Amino acid sequence: MTKTYANLIDGEMVTTSDTFEVVNPANEEVVGLVPSCGKEELDRAVSAARRAFKSWRKTSAEERQKVVQGIAAAIKDNGDELFRLLTTEQGKPHAQAQMEIFGAAGLAAAQSTLTLDDVINQDDDTRLSRTRRVPVGVVGGIVPWNFPVMMAIQKIVPALVSGCTIVLKPSPFTPLTTLRIAELIKDVVPAGTVNIITGPDELGPLITEHPDIDKITFTGSTATGKKIMEGASRDLKRITLELGGNDASIVLPDADVEKVAEQLFWSSFSNAGQICVAAKRIYIHEDIYDDLSKAIAEYAKGVVVGDGSQQGTGVGPIQNKKQFDRVCELIQDAKDQGYQFLTGGDVDPSGTGYYVPITILDNPPEDARIVAEEQFGPVMPLMKFSSVEEAIERANNSEYGLAGAVWTKDADKGVEIAEQLETGTVWVNEYLHISPLAPFGGHKQSGFGAEYGIDGLKEFTYPQVITVKRDADI
Ligand code: NAD
Repeated sequence: MTKTYANLIDGEMVTTSDTFEVVNPANEEVVGLVPSCGKEELDRAVSAARRAFKSWRKTSAEERQKVVQGIAAAIKDNGDELFRLLTTEQGKPHAQAQMEIFGAAGLAAAQSTLTLDDVINQDDDTRLSRTRRVPVGVVGGIVPWNFPVMMAIQKIVPALVSGCTIVLKPSPFTPLTTLRIAELIKDVVPAGTVNIITGPDELGPLITEHPDIDKITFTGSTATGKKIMEGASRDLKRITLELGGNDASIVLPDADVEKVAEQLFWSSFSNAGQICVAAKRIYIHEDIYDDLSKAIAEYAKGVVVGDGSQQGTGVGPIQNKKQFDRVCELIQDAKDQGYQFLTGGDVDPSGTGYYVPITILDNPPEDARIVAEEQFGPVMPLMKFSSVEEAIERANNSEYGLAGAVWTKDADKGVEIAEQLETGTVWVNEYLHISPLAPFGGHKQSGFGAEYGIDGLKEFTYPQVITVKRDADI
């Protein structure tokens, strides 16, 4: 019997008569049924969050910290069960699912200690002026399918820490682990402070336009982000948007080919390339292009694509059929245009599970779809460049501006290049390191605002300035 998962509304686990199926992308089997919520359930969740906000906003930083640490502990203590469930619904290999689950617990623990202290603007005989941060109110959180647990936690935690309450909607493709966490934290969080409801994409606009939600925090595609901005504009809701990317890496000629090949591979192919900041275009200096591209392709041959629950799998399936079709379309386009493949390229559409072989393209042109668009799958174009100026210009030639990387033995040179890249994050000689205490956000069409750190926390608050006239004659 397929398990039916429940939603968390006002401190209770609740179900609906209407449910939808969640599928394991490794074998296309149904692995769970979840409530299909609409306006009625959303209204209930928002009312609960509004009621809870009245008292939650008045709690001390220490009380909130304790609750968030309780969430961290609940995830960590049940980590083994959770990472297996995550692989079942998302497809990522066990080791990567473990990193997501324990990473989410670590993020909650790290961010539980953040506080927004008052700032004194003026303190003299005439006046005391102080800025304090007050919580915006009820937050609507909307989450994608590539890192469903991490993204849920990175919305729930700062909401609670700042004194807000939240109604969170997981992606309809990957709600199970989040709902299991809901069950685990039901008695850890005060009723109504955290509500988790599931539904189809259509539930998203109902959240965005709900008159009693004060802020939207969203992670997903740029196309959806634009719709959210539009919907939120009706009553000027505050918004934080973490969107798509077409992240470029630049490899200078002094990089050690053997050492960098493996790191470049995983910067692109972790989570089957379904990472907003995955290296999606790699520019390699012409002096080492042939050697490095061969070394990456050679490394790829040793990586197993398969079911993430099987030992030895390095790259799992694409998470859902829609994304699988899109990645196949980009590969087909590359074939139709006659681009050269260093490895991969042949998808078996008749097989069970959404598997795409590791595919690496050899120097396609800059206007190729696989270079110009976000692929979000295990397909990587390698391109040759001659001068650093040219590489920077090509890297910046994108409507996106999420992340980038520079690989070189000369770290100072790496920083000099990093400072010229138009992205929110740039790594020099490493990849995918995201600190829970540093702001993470996109430039250009990769986002609006930031998550993580004090900057991220501030987005859940309004500044309020209180000024007291000290020498008033009243
Ligand atoms: P998506 O935009 O299709 O869906 C994301 C969420 O939005 C889902 O919960 C979905 O149900 C909901 N949604 C869909 N239509 C909506 C609407 N009109 N209004 C409100 N909500 C709506 O994105 P996806 O396919 O789940 O995720 C992949 C995309 O997310 C990629 O582009 C990727 O780069 C991006 N992403 C960005 C980051 C980041 O931090 N910048 C992180 C992960 C993923």
